[in-house]
Parts: sequence; C-alpha cells; structure tokens
Amino acid sequence: MPFEAVIGLEVHAQLKTRTKIFCGCSAAFGAPPNTHVCPVCLGMPGSLPVLNRKVVEYALRMALATGCRIAGASRFARKNYFYPDLPKGYQISQYELPIAEHGAVDITVDGKSRRIGITRIHMEEDAGKLSHDPDRPVSRVDLNRAGVPLIEIVSEPDLRSPEEAGAYLRKLRTILRYLDISDGNMEEGSFRCDANVSIRPRGQAALGTRTELKNINSFRFVEKALHYEIQRQREILEDGGQVVQQTCLWDDAQNRTYVMRGKEEAHDYRYFPDPDLLPLVIDDAWIETVRQGLPELPDARRRRYVEDFGLPDYDAEVLTSAREMADYFEACVAAGAPAKPAANWIMGNLLGLLKAENRDFDRIPVPACALAELLLLIDDGTISGKIAKTVFDEMAASGKTAAAIVAEKGLLQISDADELAAVIGGILAANPGQVAAYRSGKTKLLGFFVGQVMKETRGKANPQLVNDLLREKLGGS
Ligand code: ADP
Ligand code: MG
Ligand code: ZN
Repeated sequence: MPFEAVIGLEVHAQLKTRTKIFCGCSAAFGAPPNTHVCPVCLGMPGSLPVLNRKVVEYALRMALATGCRIAGASRFARKNYFYPDLPKGYQISQYELPIAEHGAVDITVDGKSRRIGITRIHMEEDAGKLSHDPDRPVSRVDLNRAGVPLIEIVSEPDLRSPEEAGAYLRKLRTILRYLDISDGNMEEGSFRCDANVSIRPRGQAALGTRTELKNINSFRFVEKALHYEIQRQREILEDGGQVVQQTCLWDDAQNRTYVMRGKEEAHDYRYFPDPDLLPLVIDDAWIETVRQGLPELPDARRRRYVEDFGLPDYDAEVLTSAREMADYFEACVAAGAPAKPAANWIMGNLLGLLKAENRDFDRIPVPACALAELLLLIDDGTISGKIAKTVFDEMAASGKTAAAIVAEKGLLQISDADELAAVIGGILAANPGQVAAYRSGKTKLLGFFVGQVMKETRGKANPQLVNDLLREKLGGS
C-alpha cells in the first residue's frame, strides 16, 4: 500500500537580545557557568519577572514576516515540570493565548513551490544547561541559559517529505537571519527542532499516529532521522501493527531513533496563567512601527532578482538564501558588474572559496567592488574567464586588485589574431594526423586543438577567437 508521510515541526529559536526575557541578566553565550544569573532567573521565592520589551518586538518581527495574525492581548502561562535545569519548577511560556497565529512560509523543493502553514508563534524562556561527567556519576548545572528568550514556531502538519522539512527549516533560518533576531545556528543550539511525523495511506484524510523526534542538532540529521522514522513506521504498518505515540531520540552514532518516553499530554503540565505577569497588550501602532522596520524579505528579494536582474529562479533562490550574500551580489552589480556573470561567480568560485576556508559571509576576502572590477575585465576581453579564476584566488590571498595582478603577471588575454594565428600554425604543423582526421570528418577534434592553443598560451588566448581561427584554418564545417 502506498503511504504518505506527514510532518509537523516545532522550532525553537533563541533570540539575540542583550538581556534575558524576564530579568536584566546578560543573554550572551559562552560566559563561565552561573555568572549570568540573578534571583529572578534562579527562581528565588519572592522575585518577580518583568517582560523584556525587545523580546516582544523580535517575536513581532517574525510573526509579521510569516504573515501571522497578531493577538492584541496575549498571556504567559506556567508549564510545570521538574528537571534540574529548571530552578523554578516551571517554564514561563505562552499557552492558550500566543502572540501570533495563522501564518505561512513558502518553500521550494525540486522546483515545486509549497505553502506551509504556521500554527502559532509564542515566546518562552529557555532552561539551563546540564553537562554530564563522562567518568563519574556527576552532572553539572549551568543556569546562564535559564531565562534566555526563545520563540517557538509551530508548523501545521503540512510537510510531506524529509526534504520538505529540511527546506522549511532552512527557510525559517533564512528569515530569522534576515530579521537579525536569531543566529539560527543548529549545531550551537540557538535553533532547535522537534519533528513530529506520521504516515497514512495515500488519499486518507485522517492523520496517522505520530511520533516526536528530539535531539536533532543539524539540518542533515533532521532529514536522516525523518527518513529512518518514516521507514520504521511503514514497516510496522505493513506488518499489520500499530504505531505507538511516543517521543524518540535520534542517535546519530547508531543512525537510528530509540524511544525516550511515552508522549506527555498538555494536561500533564498543569498549565495556568502566570499570576506574576500582566497580560501582554499590543496595539496597532506598535505593530505598525515594527512592520515599518522590517527589511526586504527573502521571497520579495528573490522575485526582484528575477524581474530586475533577469536571473534564473535558481540563481535568485541561492543568492537570497543568505542576506549577506544577497547584499554582496547587489554591491557587485552596483559597482558595474553584469548581473548573470556576478551571480555565477558568487555561486561558484566565491562559495567554493568560503567553503574551502570554512568562512562565513561576514568574512568575504574579496570586496564586492574588487570582484566587479575582475568581472569587467572578463567582460571587455582583457582577460579570459579561465585566467580570471587564477586572478581571483590571488586577489583573495593577497588583497591586490585584479588589474594589478594582471599587469604584474602578464596575464592579459591574447586577442591579437596574428599572434594567435602563428601559435595555431605551429600546432597544426606539429599534429598532421589530427589535422587529417579532422578534415575527414572528426570535427570533435576541435576541442583538442583549442586545448593545445590554451596550453601553449598558458590559458591566455581569447577562446572565441581561437575557435574562429581554428575553424578557418582547418576548413570544413
Ligand atoms: P504537542 O502538544 O505535542 O506540542 P501539537 O498538537 O501542538 O502537539 O503539535 C505539535 C506538532 O506536531 C505540530 O507541528 C503539528 O503540526 C504536528 N502534528 C500534529 N499531529 C501530527 C500528526 N498526526 N502527524 C504529524 N505531525 C503532527
Ligand atoms: Mg509541542
Ligand atoms: Zn537573571
């Protein structure tokens, strides 16, 4: 029987505010353990939380960017449970009245566009961090993270494959980064995901029983874990069994999921409104102010790249997937570079270089205007595209301009027909067999001759001119 996968994701994004959500402690990562703490985030009796206005503003940004309806009044609730990283014995979260609901995010997978519903976005506080001693039966508690602000973004069960889940996550991260409200770093834990997955016979409307996957800390693992879990559920159903609703952990070392616990229900948490916090009232003026401050978002930017720069959809998608990359591309075009070659260069050589050196977009070694200069040298025939790659690497390594490197190393493209004709004449004389073969119809040999000319001129020959001259001298087609 053909089955269909149904996936819904709960994503937690840490917000980049300076201070925590309910106290003035620093929310910065990486301080010595338990140095960013105070009576409020330590859960001392009698201390009172005060909501950080910036957290609301950041949550509003995300809510508006994903087309959510904003609640004029929302509320914080206590989610009660015991764990050593939760000193109060409850987490302050939003429950029945979240700040935002009914949004959507568009994703593209294999050229196919799909809209994924966002059920809700709510604000909550993070818990502390436990570390377990590998050698002794000792665990340590660091409460620096307790009270760091999070937004939880809950999707509708609209995703139909692990690949769509991956695309959705990447899209959320892109939006968060455009909005400059979260680092969106999965490996470092500032962007975390719980994946709910079920399968059902194709065509059936009712949802199947789901399992929830936790402990997935990279984009690659999300897709791997979902593939594994879908296959596991399929085997159960095909054997006539039933999927049990439960929470599973992904173990990347073993490449499998295993059961962590039975699924808890909302009522297990004894949610109730937090009496220490006032209802949160958001008026239209505030919403408008936040809306005015939103940057151009990735989808809008992508459409503009297609319309204004005439780029293919694919290029527009890649370039706008990171705000810094898009900014870089636009700076390059503003400095005179032709759009498509700039796009190619950024997606190919530049991304390759960043990846090889494990750099991020905020540390691009070649300024946009310098790349523009290089692209213009190719465009006007001063250097060949092949040589340009060498020049680019040299620019990245030395910080010199393209023109300086070209002059210094004598890399000017040879576009002089007489000079090239002399080279070609020599090559034809040295390869009489190939010339005869070409003339008797093996015209594929043209590539061989072009290669010889390039070798002889150390890549500097103007390829178009070489092609023309070779055809002329060899005769035939
Ligand atoms: P919980 O109380 O466990 O958080 P929710 O109803 O809030 O449960 O749903 C959590 C996530 O699970 C949502 O993203 C939702 O889309 C998804 N989900 C709910 N039911 C299913 C299902 N049967 N199959 C797959 N995903 C589901
Ligand atoms: Mg949930
Ligand atoms: Zn504090």
